[in-house]
Amino acid sequence: KIMVTGATGQLGGLALQHLLQKVPASHIVAVARSSEKAAALAGLGIEVRQGDYNDPESLRNAFRDGNKLLFISSSEPDDPLRVVQHANVVKAARDAGIKHIAYTGFAFAEDNPFALVHLATEYAIRTTNIMYTFLRNGGYAEFFINPSLKANVENGTIVTNTNKRKVNAVSRSDLALAAATVLTGEGHENKEYNLVSNDPWSFDDLAEIVSEVSGKSVVHQSVSFEEEKNILVQSGMPESFAQITAFIYDTIAAGNMERTTDDLHKLIGFQTPVKELVIKALQG
Ligand code: NDP
Repeated sequence: KIMVTGATGQLGGLALQHLLQKVPASHIVAVARSSEKAAALAGLGIEVRQGDYNDPESLRNAFRDGNKLLFISSSEPDDPLRVVQHANVVKAARDAGIKHIAYTGFAFAEDNPFALVHLATEYAIRTTNIMYTFLRNGGYAEFFINPSLKANVENGTIVTNTNKRKVNAVSRSDLALAAATVLTGEGHENKEYNLVSNDPWSFDDLAEIVSEVSGKSVVHQSVSFEEEKNILVQSGMPESFAQITAFIYDTIAAGNMERTTDDLHKLIGFQTPVKELVIKALQG
């Protein structure tokens, strides 16, 4: 059986959809902290088990008779707590006899101080001797390319603090397909993949694509961290989210999300083009 944590989240939901294309629903178990939220999954014929990253006993119980585990990293914002949660998952997988863990970390985690939690989790997994695949996901393209682009088309500018640097972001669905491919295929044991775009793009590039798709002139303007944060807050974004967004743009400006590999392309055979994501965002 393949167990999937974070099953009620966006990446987990997409991974389940891709898994259902590859194996019968009876081979999949969705692990969710809220069984209520997971009710729709039961409707797809997938067994749902309750498991909370804060509750080791619930995880051990949820992982029983599991063979493989897709461990989706927690969305807990407090990093020290997140490390503890992840250690709980790893120990429970070991105790339950899981044979292979595919863990969703962050691409080139060693380049990004905010990704230390993923390095710690990878280390914890390595200490168990369970076979692993590190799915080191790039930034989600949907974080940057989403329906809010419509407002950028209206006022003709995309404002960030990324300068001219590029980002190796990829679509969540492509990352979910990569996870399903690893869990149902062979030869991925004890491998780590940095799942990023093999064709990184800058926000200047994005503005050009948005112009082409919308038929209206849109340019990219780069400002300072503080200016960006203020602009986002003035546009109605909660301060904490504006801070995180400007921080991610800063990470891009430092060139820390520019490295590239072919790992994703090799696993799934394609990569959803930015233009396709822009078309979807402007329709959505
Ligand atoms: P979501 O927020 O949509 O999903 C997170 C999932 O984690 C949800 O199913 C959530 O459950 C579950 N979860 C959170 N806390 C617990 C807990 N205590 N016990 C059990 N489950 C828990 O995020 P995404 O699907 O978009 O992304 C998946 C993960 O990737 C994130 O959790 C985060 O670690 C990481 N991430 C990566 C980014 C990137 O750009 N690569 C960007 C942002 C996050 P519930 O549905 O009940 O809330």
